Amino acid sequence: MIDLYTRTQALVAKLGDGDTIKFSREDAGSLVASLGSVLTEHAELYYQDDAPVISDAEYDRLFQQLRILEESHPSLLKNDSPSQRTGSEPVDSFSKIVHSEALLSLSNAFSEDDLRAWYRRCRSRLELAENEPLSITVELKIDGLALSLLYSNGVLQTGATRGDGRVGENVTLNVRTIPSIPLRIPRPKISDPGADPPIPERLEIRGEVYFAKTDFDKLNAVLAAAGKKTYANPRNTAAGSLRQLDSRITATRPLSFIAYAPGPASGFIGDSQSSILSWFASLGFPISDQTETVNRLEDVVRYCKYWADARDSLGYEIDGVVVKIDDIENQRRLGAISNAPRWAIAYKFPGREETTVLRDIIINVGRTGKITPEAVLEPVMIGGVTVSQATLHNADYIMNRDIRIGDTVLVKRAGDVIPKVVQPIVEARTGTEKAWRMPMSCPVCNSPLERLEGEADHYCVSSECEAQFARLVEHFVSRGAMDIDGFGAKLALTLATEGVIKSLDDIYKLDETSLAELDGFGIKKISNTLEGINDSRNRSLSRLLFALGIRHVGKTTAEALVVAFSSLHDLYGADAEALLKVDGVGDVIAQSLVDWFSIEQNVELVKSLTTLGVNTVRLESEIPQGGEGAPLRGKTFVLTGTLDGIGRKEAGELIKSAGGKVSSSVSSRTDYVVAGENPGSKIDRARVLGIKILTEQQLMNILK
Ligand code: NAD
Repeated sequence: MIDLYTRTQALVAKLGDGDTIKFSREDAGSLVASLGSVLTEHAELYYQDDAPVISDAEYDRLFQQLRILEESHPSLLKNDSPSQRTGSEPVDSFSKIVHSEALLSLSNAFSEDDLRAWYRRCRSRLELAENEPLSITVELKIDGLALSLLYSNGVLQTGATRGDGRVGENVTLNVRTIPSIPLRIPRPKISDPGADPPIPERLEIRGEVYFAKTDFDKLNAVLAAAGKKTYANPRNTAAGSLRQLDSRITATRPLSFIAYAPGPASGFIGDSQSSILSWFASLGFPISDQTETVNRLEDVVRYCKYWADARDSLGYEIDGVVVKIDDIENQRRLGAISNAPRWAIAYKFPGREETTVLRDIIINVGRTGKITPEAVLEPVMIGGVTVSQATLHNADYIMNRDIRIGDTVLVKRAGDVIPKVVQPIVEARTGTEKAWRMPMSCPVCNSPLERLEGEADHYCVSSECEAQFARLVEHFVSRGAMDIDGFGAKLALTLATEGVIKSLDDIYKLDETSLAELDGFGIKKISNTLEGINDSRNRSLSRLLFALGIRHVGKTTAEALVVAFSSLHDLYGADAEALLKVDGVGDVIAQSLVDWFSIEQNVELVKSLTTLGVNTVRLESEIPQGGEGAPLRGKTFVLTGTLDGIGRKEAGELIKSAGGKVSSSVSSRTDYVVAGENPGSKIDRARVLGIKILTEQQLMNILK
C-alpha cells in the first residue's frame, strides 16, 4: 500500500500545477497509463473496502487531469480507463445482482462556467428556441452510497449497491434493517388519478443511503465509550455499514435513506423528475424537502451557491448539487455517454479534506484550563484557505486513532469550525513516525495536569496559570461575550501576560496611564479602547454570564439561566435543585455553577464588577415575551446583510424577545428574511422559495 501512496504522490509531483498541455505525446501516454492504474486502485479502496487513502479532492484532481490528457490525446483513451467506468467491481463476498438498467455515475461541474456550458449543450441538443423554457430540478447531492430497490407488486424483493454500474452487490438482508425503507409500498395517499399512477407490477427506486450527522456522532460516542476504534467519516461508515456480511451488525447502525430517481418500471409513473419525486413521497419513501424545480439557469446557479455556503446547516453531509433536466422525455432525448447521463450534472463543492504531514503536536491551554492538543501541519490549501494548524481534541482522540508525529494525516476544514485532523493514513507510514503522550504538567505554569473521572479532557487546575487567564480575558472581551470594541485577542494576551490585569474586573480599572505604557497605543487608540470598555458596562446579563467563562455555561445556557434568575446575585444564591429546573441545565452544568460561586475569588469578582458599574441584572429585553399574546410567536426570521440602524445582533434579540425565532439558514419553514445592505445568497434563496423579504425599517415597524 505504501507503494500506492508513494506512486500517487510521485504522480501529483509530476503533473504539477495541472497544466497538462506541456507534456509530449510520449509523456502523456505514460502519465495516462500511471493515472489509470493509480485511480483504479484508489477506486477499489474507496468502493470495495470503504477505506480510501487519499481525500476525495485529491482523487477528483487526478481524475480531472486524466480526463484532460485523454481529451488532448484521444488516441490514448482506452475502454477500461477510469474515466469510462462507474464505481468499481462488486466484491465476491456478496452475491451479485445484474441491474436491469445501468446505474451510472454523474459528470461533474466544478464551476459556474461548467454549469453554463452543460446547460448550453442540453439546449442545443434539444434544439430549443431562445425563448423556450427548460425545466430543471436541483437536488442536494448527499454524500453516501447509491442503492437500488426492486419492488414486485409493491413488495421489496432486492436491494443492490451500484457496484460497477452494471452489476451490484446483493445487500437485501441489510436493506431490510433500514427503518425508512418501506418493505411493502402502501397505496398512494392521495387518490387523484392524474397525479397518482397505480403502483406498477415492477418498480425500481434508486436513492442514497447515508448517515445523519447526529447518528454518526452517536455511533462514534458509543464506540469510544466501549474503547473501540471510531470512524472517520459518515460516507465511508455508511458504505461499510450497508456492506456488512452480517445483517445484525447493519441493524445496529442507524442508516438513513432518501429516494432520488426511478429505475425501470413496468408501467407509467410520471413524466417529470419532480412529479415522480412527489409520487415517491406519497408511497412512503423519504425524499429531500430541499429539492426545487426552476426554469432559469440563474436560479440553478443561485441554488448551488446558496448550498455551498449553507451546507453546514443540514443534518447530513452533502458534497454538491445534482442538476437534472426535469422532463423525462427530454431526458430520454438527451441520453447518456459511456458512464453518465447527459441530462444531469453534479455541481461539486470545493473539497474540505486534504492530506498533509503532521509535523508536531503542541498543547494549548484554554480559558477553563482545558488542554487541547494541536497539530502543527505542513501547510496545505483546503477549500482556498491555507491550513497549518488543526485540533486533535484530546488525548483519547489521538490514542483511538493512533495518530503519530510524522504521519501523513487527513485534515478536514468545514465552515467556521476549527480544522481537525480526521485520521492518519497508516498506509503512508515509513517507520519514522513517533507516538505522542499527553505531558504530565502544564507547559505554561508547570502545575500537574488532571483528568476528571468520566471526562476525556485534561485540565490545568492552577488558578495562577497565565495562559488560562489570557484566554479567559480573550473570551470575556470577544464579540459573542462582552463585545468590547477595540479589545482584541492580542491586547488580551499582552495585558494578561504582562500582569497589567490580574482579574477580569481589572479590565474596568484600566485608564489612560496603564494603556499608554503599551506598545503602539497612541491617544486615539487609548480613547477608543476605553470607550469600548465603557460601552460594555451595559451589556445584557446573559452576555456577562457567558463572558465569565464558567465551565459548561455556553451562550444558550446563559440565556436560559437569566430567564429564571434576574441577577448574578440571584444565581449566586441558587442551589443545584433550583438550577436543575432551568431548561437545558443538567447535573454537570448545575454542579459547575455551584462550584464556581463557591470560590471566594469569584464572589469577590462579581461584587467588584457591580461596584465598577458593570450591569449584573437582567435587562427588560431579556424577559421572554413568548406567551400566547407575543406578536412574533411561532414566526421564524433569517437576517442577512448589514442592518445599519440596530445591527444584526440587536435585531435578533428584539425578535426573540417578541417571541420569534432567528435561524441561520433559509428553508421552507422560514417566515421572513430581513435584508440589510449587501445581503448574501440567503436573499436569493428566499426569492426562489417565495419567502417574504423585509427591510430593516419594515422589521422595526412590526416590532413596534
Ligand atoms: P459522484 O459522487 O460524482 O456522483 C454519482 C453519485 O451521486 C450517485 O451514484 C449517487 O450515489 C449520488 N447522488 C447523491 N444524491 C443524488 C441525487 N439527488 N441524484 C442522483 N445521484 C445522487 O460519482 P461516483 O462515481 O459515485 O463517485 C465519484 C466520487 O467519489 C469522486 O468524485 C470522489 O470524490 C469519490 N472517490 C474518492 C476516492 C478516494 O480515493 N478518495 C476514490 C474513488 C471515488
